[in-house]
Amino acid sequence: MSRVGRLSIVLFVLLMVSGCLTTSGGGLSGGLSTAVTAVTEISKASRPISDEEEYYVGRALAARILTIYKLVNNAVVVDYVNLVGLTLSYHSDKPNTYGGYHFAILDTMEKNAFACPGGLIFITKGMLLTAKNEDELAAILAHEIAHINSRDGISAISSARWTEALTVIGTTAAKQYGSPEFGKLVSIFEGSIEDVFKTIVVNGYSQQQEFSADERAVEFLRRAGYNPSALHDVISTLNLQGAAGGGIMKTHPSSSERLERLMTKGKQVSLNMDTFKKRSDRFRAVIKKL
Ligand SMILES: [Zn+2]
Repeated sequence: MSRVGRLSIVLFVLLMVSGCLTTSGGGLSGGLSTAVTAVTEISKASRPISDEEEYYVGRALAARILTIYKLVNNAVVVDYVNLVGLTLSYHSDKPNTYGGYHFAILDTMEKNAFACPGGLIFITKGMLLTAKNEDELAAILAHEIAHINSRDGISAISSARWTEALTVIGTTAAKQYGSPEFGKLVSIFEGSIEDVFKTIVVNGYSQQQEFSADERAVEFLRRAGYNPSALHDVISTLNLQGAAGGGIMKTHPSSSERLERLMTKGKQVSLNMDTFKKRSDRFRAVIKKL
């Protein structure tokens, strides 16, 4: 059911309840005013998650992920990945977010990359070593940026949970540290982070979200002057290596349909081989420091 549909039912129920209350005391105007207040609260509570709230959810999710993995602290490699990632984000559909885009490397040989809402993107050391050149690295980052652009992570928070959170936030008591309402808010927030964590790290996005992120990534690569076929190439390599296992690998299920779609989308550009070679050379020079 759509959010509007759900809201209509809630409004209807509230109005019915207000009618019942009216007969048992408080008069017609009292019942209506109760309903109007409740309706206003529900309308406020049903608003979408703001960019600022998305940033805080992303930050909490990143902290959660960093309880599992350590970061690679090699400044040369981290700066290089940020250079490539920021170039792609500039050419994406949403170049600016509340907290900006930041790229970090997880110290694991697992092959994956994923995006925390708001702009924090992790790529694993194993994935970096799988990319054959800068264009393939750019392709992986472009795909993650596309997930952030379309808010795929944040949409994993159940709307019921978010509505509950906003209702609690609206109470004065929730602002008092240590109050039961404050505790409730903390637990709802933790639950929201868990919703996003499950989608991004455990279960993966839907097939449609993956197809769409692939499609946008190819466009970002094209705009930035990278090889649009690079996403197809790197996913093919991951496929051949059997990288679509369990755990966080589910974030990027390999499928022949996905590759087929990419094959047709990525082939419409003539690549400047001279600049391609220069990018590949600097990629090799940096990655060997990893
Ligand atoms: Zn994805």
